[in-house]
Amino acid sequence: MPLLKVDKLGKSYNTETKVLKDVSFEVGSGEFVSVIGPSGAGKSTLLRCINRMVEIDEGNVIFDGQDVGSLNKKELRKMRTNIGMIFQHYNLVPRLSVIENVLHGRLGYKTTFQGVFGKFSEAEKEHAFFLLEKLGIAEHAYKRCDQLSGGQQQRVGIARSLIQEPKIVLCDEPIASLDPNASKVIMDYLKSITMELNITCIVNLHQVQVARDYSDRIIGLSKGSIVFDGPSYRLTTDS
Ligand code: ADP
Ligand code: ADP
Repeated sequence: MPLLKVDKLGKSYNTETKVLKDVSFEVGSGEFVSVIGPSGAGKSTLLRCINRMVEIDEGNVIFDGQDVGSLNKKELRKMRTNIGMIFQHYNLVPRLSVIENVLHGRLGYKTTFQGVFGKFSEAEKEHAFFLLEKLGIAEHAYKRCDQLSGGQQQRVGIARSLIQEPKIVLCDEPIASLDPNASKVIMDYLKSITMELNITCIVNLHQVQVARDYSDRIIGLSKGSIVFDGPSYRLTTDS
């Protein structure tokens, strides 16, 4: 059974326009998949449907054997511990330290954080440090996040997304706010750490070349429909 199955997914925010139309694909455990397409193609919406940050209108999303659309609040919260999220604007809490932001990932989505570092166990803190070391930013652990560069902040974002040992990470334009050098650093870290920890990865990108360089498989979205799904080498410029 694939880790993720998206079956005839349809989504609209209002009745007029469908943002996703009949989108179907499967992602196996350990895959590193890029979703490409111009701004407005529906890439963010696709990721939001997978962890049900927005409601699913048509079709099904099956993640880890569960029908995401039919889960109740409690089941959804549990499922989301298996889904890490990485955002374009990092979405860190600026006044908190790096290590606190990473541990924040344990509290789940949109929880207000008291800033009580002490409430985490030593094992949890060690785990956070382990991830920061892997990402080359352990030396910044006690700095406030807003003192770091964009690339460093996104490395904090990666660590936060992995702190619950998710099965998949969904990355929504993780390098869109970074310069080419920082982008390369982030993509290198994202690829190597997810491979090492055997975590499946879906990355929204609008740069085709980056998708080609890093992913084995590319899904092309245009106006809410899949227009390409295959190995990266088969994507030609006119696909
Ligand atoms: P992408 O990530 O590929 O840029 P999005 O999924 O963000 O695409 O957007 C797809 C379409 O849905 C766009 O036309 C966008 O304006 C619209 N859209 C996105 N979010 C909302 C929302 N919360 N309410 C209404 N329309 C939205
Ligand atoms: P945009 O697509 O406008 O750049 P973001 O990427 O910042 O927006 O956020 C996308 C969605 O994720 C929004 O619906 C937002 O409410 C939600 N969100 C923002 N921060 C978090 C977070 N830390 N954890 C989970 N969801 C978040």
